[in-house]
Amino acid sequence: MANASKKVTIVGSIALDSVETPFGRKEDILGGSASYAALSASFFAPVNLISVVGKDFPKRYLNLYKKNNIDITGVEVKPGKTFRWKAHYNYNLNSAETLDTQLGVFQSFLKPEIPKNVSRADNLLLANIDPVLQEWVLDKVKPTGIVAMDTMNHWIANRKKELMKLLKKVDLFLVNEGEARQISGEENLLNAASAIQAKGPKMLVIKKGEHGALFFHEGLLLMVPAYLLEKLHDPTGAGDTFAGAMIGYLSQFSKVTERELRKSLVYASILASFTVEKFSVKRLTEITREDIEYRYNQFEKLTEF
Ligand code: AMP
Repeated sequence: MANASKKVTIVGSIALDSVETPFGRKEDILGGSASYAALSASFFAPVNLISVVGKDFPKRYLNLYKKNNIDITGVEVKPGKTFRWKAHYNYNLNSAETLDTQLGVFQSFLKPEIPKNVSRADNLLLANIDPVLQEWVLDKVKPTGIVAMDTMNHWIANRKKELMKLLKKVDLFLVNEGEARQISGEENLLNAASAIQAKGPKMLVIKKGEHGALFFHEGLLLMVPAYLLEKLHDPTGAGDTFAGAMIGYLSQFSKVTERELRKSLVYASILASFTVEKFSVKRLTEITREDIEYRYNQFEKLTEF
């Protein structure tokens, strides 16, 4: 399916999530930033995944990655418990309230081996996880491709120093609006963007949930809407899916032009719109490239003027 010139290496969390939204409640379902990002990226490019799970992690989930063009040589199975995250959303589905985070096997997974099939020339996505782990992978891989990074409020609050150090080495940073304000101390998003870009990343995405996303790159400011949906069940993973699709899409090109950057944002928004339709990664495992292209055409009609 994918016709890529590069692969994508993704490091991030693999989790068993327990999530409650106004539309239902699920226990121990497949989640984690790397799961959403890898499945999303896999529509556009082959993926190498670097992560860790405990012995309690269901085998069928490992098979699910493999079935979707995701190489899991870099996923270690360690004695101990898989990362667990418990969260609640109220009717305003824009932000999750974290009820519990159990790092489990991630506690001792800060210096993983990098699989031999990871190439420096591939693009690298440092999906949401401890910035100490993100930096280790970055320093080991020494990528010549695009380095993208995501994070969340937990790490901004608990690993700010490490995160700011890492930011200097990143090309593309993706955050949601709350995180942008938290990192920069600026309320206004344009000011927040300038403050964050001054710390390193040339390209910045600020996600605004149902209001789409902003993209900043040198003098360029772009807005991409969120795809309009009638039914939305669980917003978990929308941001990770966005990041995975964006870097996956860009991996199809040896040279990234402004046109491709614009299209990568549209595909990112579309993939995220599928994720939120059902709990866990379910929709990402059901859809085809045709479903994605259908929404792409709808997007063109909606935004043409
Ligand atoms: P998002 O909705 O895009 O913010 O991502 C939600 C996913 O991130 C869930 O599937 C969680 O398992 C995972 N997650 C939650 N907290 C953390 C954390 N502190 N570090 C890494 N991943 C996390």
